[in-house]
Amino acid sequence: MSMRVSRRAMLKSVGLGALAVSVTGPAGAVAFAGEERTAAGSPAVPYSLPDLPFPYDALAPAIEEHVLRVHHDKHHGGYVRGLNATLASLEQARAAEDMSRIKALSRALAFHGSGHVLHTLYWNSMTPGGSGEPLGTLRTVLERDFGSLDAFKTQFLAATKKVEGSGWGLLAFEPTGNRLIVLQIEKHQNLTVWGAAPLMVCDVWEHAYYDQYQNRRGDYVDNFYGLIDWRAVAERFDAAIGG
Ligand code: MN
Repeated sequence: MSMRVSRRAMLKSVGLGALAVSVTGPAGAVAFAGEERTAAGSPAVPYSLPDLPFPYDALAPAIEEHVLRVHHDKHHGGYVRGLNATLASLEQARAAEDMSRIKALSRALAFHGSGHVLHTLYWNSMTPGGSGEPLGTLRTVLERDFGSLDAFKTQFLAATKKVEGSGWGLLAFEPTGNRLIVLQIEKHQNLTVWGAAPLMVCDVWEHAYYDQYQNRRGDYVDNFYGLIDWRAVAERFDAAIGG
């Protein structure tokens, strides 16, 4: 599903179909296929679980269908429900002027919100069979900022495999320094650089691989690398740099 169709469908669902032809997303926003992004100025709507951009069995044997189905439907779905429930609780707290749970609710907002954003990016970081090597401006900047494509790959794979506990390996564009960076994310929300645009991410929570790979996280990450949709990553990079 394209982003255009997705947004129109969502606007229609909240009675704003007539606005669909005139709204645009925020400038420079990073968009994912299947993402439902509300235009600035439109009423906020509950978050929803986006469809996978490919069939459940399309990434096998690298990621088997049963792993992908549970991961998307149950785990990602759970973060979407948690995010909406947290926002509802915050609304109730404001209405009751009761901030006694604000620390727990703020923590839950970061956890579930980041979980939803990262899972959406994860599905859109992969394509069946991969798309080959990065090309164009993205390739040039990867080589500039990491020394070579091989050096990037070495750092990304090492960082991702060595995340402590549950987390993610992330390629991001940091706009202040105009550079690409690799981050290790713990849980969903920790160890970020604020303002960095997420471009490509690998989930290394055990639920992402354990039922297929058991403790062989490294094999899973190596196989993930072969699934990367570099064309989609390049589109997000171009959007992040304002191209
Ligand atoms: Mn996950």
